[in-house]
Amino acid sequence: MSTVEDLEVTAISPVVRPELIVAGARGTHDHSDFLLVRVSTSDGTTGLGEVSATLQWSGEDAGTAEYLIKKALAPAILGRPLVPVADLERRMDEATAGAPFTKAGISTALWDAYARTLGVPLAVALGGPLRTEVPVKCSLSGSGQRLRHVCQSAFEAGFRSYKLKIGFDPEDDARRLAEARKLVGEDTFLGLDANGGYRPAAAARAIELMRDQNPAFLEQPVAPGDLAGMRELRGRGLSIVADESVFGTDDLVSVIRAEAADAVSLYVGKAAGPGRVVAMAQLASAFGLDVVLGSNGELGIGAAAQLHAACAAPGLSGRIPSDIIGAHYYERDILKTPLNSDGRTVRLGDAPGLGVEVADEIAAGFRSVR
Ligand SMILES: [Mg+2]
Repeated sequence: MSTVEDLEVTAISPVVRPELIVAGARGTHDHSDFLLVRVSTSDGTTGLGEVSATLQWSGEDAGTAEYLIKKALAPAILGRPLVPVADLERRMDEATAGAPFTKAGISTALWDAYARTLGVPLAVALGGPLRTEVPVKCSLSGSGQRLRHVCQSAFEAGFRSYKLKIGFDPEDDARRLAEARKLVGEDTFLGLDANGGYRPAAAARAIELMRDQNPAFLEQPVAPGDLAGMRELRGRGLSIVADESVFGTDDLVSVIRAEAADAVSLYVGKAAGPGRVVAMAQLASAFGLDVVLGSNGELGIGAAAQLHAACAAPGLSGRIPSDIIGAHYYERDILKTPLNSDGRTVRLGDAPGLGVEVADEIAAGFRSVR
């Protein structure tokens, strides 16, 4: 069996298309400081990964990721057998606490190399595919002219399902929801994401004010650690989705025990890898939670990892579209060929691994961490 021979990285700071900048209660995402990862094995197979981290989410970015990879994560896996990937993930956990988005970048590259070795799509190596098409939605933020512009741009990009960023002031947010509802249409799928921005009383008030405008769900109404507060808000006519409350499996168990949510938003980054997303989806669905794949503004490699994980994830919601929008988000993608997405769905291909290649000028930037 082949071993992990080398690990290369390249930092990248792409700019989000101005019309799709997401301004939520957790900050404004207008550019990304991401790190791309490439592993190579002793039999000449390579795998790609992406550290799609932001400081506001986990205290990670391209700089911290490169430091941790050089200092601890690469030494933990270089020279080791590629299979089983789960053993390499365990070694990374032993070498460094936390840093899930950084570990996810390496894990994705390892899984990509493993699936390429088998000659199958990553979704197959992960135990799927249970589906080959994943419905997606686009985030909307702002109000007035700005909101109108975002709605129009998203519609022109092909999107037909949306979520509005709220979590500021309930009265003002309710007015913005009314605006958004008018713009996207009465029967269009439109959810809400508060990014943990409300105090519990404000969240209850927001639900009262917004319920009759038919929002499809309410994501992370209160602070990530306030599971009792989340529990309180269930059963008021809106599905409660846990996002920031759930990074890894231990968080998911806490949410299940506290009966804090109706659905959970899993990220390849928060979970520290695509294999763990699938395991968490299994656990969530066994306890009756709907599963969606959430986004941290992934580029093409990260979006491909989301897609394959979503296609292998048990219990993926048939009601709430996922957030796999990497193909649309940035001025320029990093892939040779973009993911197969029309804005309504993203479709799985049959190429081995993630099924993506980076553009030549991006590939030229990779440097070994050895
Ligand atoms: Mg969210």
